[in-house]
Amino acid sequence: MKQEELEGYRLSPQQQRLWRLRQHSRAFRSQCVLMVRGPLRTEALEAALGRLVQRHEILRTAFRQLPGMELPLQVITDGGPVRLRHLDLSGCPAADRQRRAEEYVREERERPFDYERGQVLRAGLVRLAAADHLLVVSLPALCADVRTLQNLTREVWRQYEAVTAGGEDAAAGLSEVVQYVQYSEWQHELLASEEGAEGRQYWREQETWQEGLAAPRLALEGDGRVGESAEYELGEVRRELGAEVLGQVERVAERQQSSAEAVLLACWQSLLWRVGGAEEFAVRVAFDGRKYEDLYESFGLFTKHISTRSSFLKDTSLDDLLRRVDESFGSAYEWQEYYAPGPTDGLGGGGDVVGYEYASWDGDQHHGQLSVACAELYSCTERQKLKLSCLRQGAGLRLQFYYDPQTYGRAGVERLAEEYVTLLAGAVAEPEQAVGRLAVVGGHERQQLLVEWNETGREYPRDKCIHQLFEEQVERTPEAVAVLSEDEQATYRELNERANQLAHHLRSVGVGPEVVVGVCLDRSVEMVAAVLGVLKAGGAYLPLDPEYPAERLRFMLEDAGARVVLTQEALTGLWGGSGGAVAAENPAVEVSGGNLAYVIYTSGSTGKPKGVMVEHRSGVNLWAALKRAIYEGLGEPGRVSLNAPLSFDASVKQLLQLLSGRCVCLIPEGARREPEALLRHLSEHSVEVLDTTPSQLRQVLAADARGRLPGVVLVGGEAIDEALAARMRECGGSRFYNVYGPTECTVDATVGAVGGRGTEGGTESSTEGSTESRAESGGVIGRPIANVQVYVLDAHQQLVPVGVSGEIYIGGGGLARGYLNRPELTAERFVPHPYSRDEGARLYRTGDVGRYKASGEIEYLGRVDGQVKVRGYRIELGEIEAALSGHAGVEQSVVVAREDVPGQKRLVAYLVTESSDAVNIGDVRQFLREKLPDYMVPSAFVILPALPLTRRGKVDRAALPPPEQVESGADIVAPRTPAEELLANLY
Ligand code: AMP
Ligand code: MG
Repeated sequence: MKQEELEGYRLSPQQQRLWRLRQHSRAFRSQCVLMVRGPLRTEALEAALGRLVQRHEILRTAFRQLPGMELPLQVITDGGPVRLRHLDLSGCPAADRQRRAEEYVREERERPFDYERGQVLRAGLVRLAAADHLLVVSLPALCADVRTLQNLTREVWRQYEAVTAGGEDAAAGLSEVVQYVQYSEWQHELLASEEGAEGRQYWREQETWQEGLAAPRLALEGDGRVGESAEYELGEVRRELGAEVLGQVERVAERQQSSAEAVLLACWQSLLWRVGGAEEFAVRVAFDGRKYEDLYESFGLFTKHISTRSSFLKDTSLDDLLRRVDESFGSAYEWQEYYAPGPTDGLGGGGDVVGYEYASWDGDQHHGQLSVACAELYSCTERQKLKLSCLRQGAGLRLQFYYDPQTYGRAGVERLAEEYVTLLAGAVAEPEQAVGRLAVVGGHERQQLLVEWNETGREYPRDKCIHQLFEEQVERTPEAVAVLSEDEQATYRELNERANQLAHHLRSVGVGPEVVVGVCLDRSVEMVAAVLGVLKAGGAYLPLDPEYPAERLRFMLEDAGARVVLTQEALTGLWGGSGGAVAAENPAVEVSGGNLAYVIYTSGSTGKPKGVMVEHRSGVNLWAALKRAIYEGLGEPGRVSLNAPLSFDASVKQLLQLLSGRCVCLIPEGARREPEALLRHLSEHSVEVLDTTPSQLRQVLAADARGRLPGVVLVGGEAIDEALAARMRECGGSRFYNVYGPTECTVDATVGAVGGRGTEGGTESSTEGSTESRAESGGVIGRPIANVQVYVLDAHQQLVPVGVSGEIYIGGGGLARGYLNRPELTAERFVPHPYSRDEGARLYRTGDVGRYKASGEIEYLGRVDGQVKVRGYRIELGEIEAALSGHAGVEQSVVVAREDVPGQKRLVAYLVTESSDAVNIGDVRQFLREKLPDYMVPSAFVILPALPLTRRGKVDRAALPPPEQVESGADIVAPRTPAEELLANLY
């Protein structure tokens, strides 16, 4: 048997890495396209290219492998003549010409190379007109990097001039070059040698230092091409910048004794910080690998992509960054020949490998009668998910954003490009400004975020009051059933009469506009009449839950200055007693849309609940907006539930259905606590719309709910997790709406349909890029309802880009008047509207974290503070902690909402006591029960010797142990049955 033999050189370290990558992709190519104007002699051009191939071995190198060899050897061949591949487009219509030329260029780039043969240089000539040609030179990235292309274009015209001048070989005039295999061998020796030890040590240190440093994470939605297909492709988005910006870039560079390359990189890092969120991350910067003059003219793959660290502080400026970039640049440049790219490092997992490359190109060159300009420069020598490639050409700057379409969508990268341009312009105009304060969102994106997605203005009866609209409805359908409870029902006429009767009475005891009246009633027809009665008297109702501790009720009454309280006895006296005259007359009271309609208390972080004041106008807007967003499209359902207690504002949107002639069905307390009973109740009474929380719905869907839920289910008050969203999608027969909004913005600010229907997925649909799934998703909360605006802003109240998370701010018709008797708190949370020209316009800072999706829908992501939702209840952990601190034996306390079992959130209090026997947990629990509503009393108490601290000395909440794992001192309320769980429950 004949022994096969192969003689050649090993691959360079860069080639080794690329060889492995290359197998999966046609992207790893280098290509330049030159626009050549003037009388071109094609045979002279072919000869010139042939001479280049002779001069540079790498242009006639074959890559050959024997069976069993993992990597090929470089075998230098004799090389053959270069033949131009011609395409004549001069006869084409102008419109076609460009497109066909582009197709040709791309095809030339991607066509497979025959590595075995060693014909690696491929040249094509596109004739656009008699004296206009495109010269297209394509090479595998294994043989050429950006500098190679630049050298090549310089040299080829020298040869061309020599050929046309006399035919003598112009290489005579050129010095010997270092051939690529010489470089490659030198690299290998250096990396293995004694003398290289120091350099290798440098990179080892860098590596440890950078270990765990993620690449930036970008939330650019994909095009739906998820999943790692073997093929690596590149998409490209491009922007051209004019001389003006480039001039500014250069001035900044000069002033800082830096370079345009560094300025553009610093801005790239800044953008990645702003859109990626991480303060520290790595970017792979291309270094040209030609530190030594000997290598300047060599051809081959010298470029190394070296991971560089970026770190940002709140007030980092471009100037600061430049100093740092230059420093790290300087040393990376110094040590670059000792850098050996790992064979596969940075290719899997861990963030998105983001790169940066810079090249500069002279403007037009002139060679005899020819003028030559660079039309395209492409070089992909590393696998990256995203790369900014800056090409400076004469007085202009081309930005090329290359991206992996399996990860990112074109639209997202287009936005990113726009953002880069916006940020760059701001940064070079104000290099001493903190980059965190520079605008990132501009142009079309700004228009979308400020205008298009918030163009919600619609007419509504803004001067009418809730009860007036109700009275109009009474006129229309007096005999229709308005309220239905287990043992009673009332028609619109009857309800109106009862409410009138109460209103007249309230008028007689001095109730009028801006007067707060407490309503402390069980869920009943009376309760609904009482609310309407208060409004009709001109007053504002204050719901008081009869179950709350007396101390809390007293505080609310005093704080609200409510002198009248409607209780069961009071009403029995009024309605049951004398059989009183029927009050058909609506009281005539001067009250308008700007008057107070209700005050609802919510948990307060400083220890006291706060009363949110909502005006009629906001309630009326909610009614009109929900009609548009939900009811109109649904054949106007007749029966809706009232499931939420009056003390939670979700009840408001259901009560408002009385303005549309619907029948409000009061869900009995028993049914609220037991999923099966609830389902039975709903179907017995043919309820068509159910209001609920995710917590309650989760329990209901765990029962056999298929086909038994009403046709419309409004789910709100807390985040919908993916598991619940999935269950909703599976549950046929109902449409689910995710409704979102704080009490301060009148119940609902946004609405989104969950699941099923096209793009309006309740949570992540699988068609989005993998980056999307990284953020914890709390469901898509849809779009702002009529007359409501939603903005996602950063700490400086600047717009954050689409896909980037920030704090949700809400403006428009739903805004509450503020917090009762709390002007400072009101000013803190209701801030001047930074983007409105309307005088006095305000935004409410929700403390919620969210982001806009490219579709214009908003996604909920969490909270910025210690406000939590447990079983639908809004709780400030600080309020519980403040209450605990009032207990004499408690020295320190932290309360957290834990979800040790998925879907089961509970409050856990961690206490440090004055001495080990100072405190009896039973006492503490009782102590809290007297101060707080039941749902705010933690279900577990843990006594710790000390609270765990972070390195910065703050309480490390994440390090608090699950109560079940604490050996002593934990006191856990026995795990609740699902029914008991609900008992404690809901809203
Ligand atoms: P409340 O004032 O009781 O309505 O509570 C408002 C807070 O509950 C919001 O600021 C959110 O944190 C949360 N919330 C309300 N609705 C939703 C929802 N649909 N998805 C996620 N969180 C919600
Ligand atoms: Mg709400």
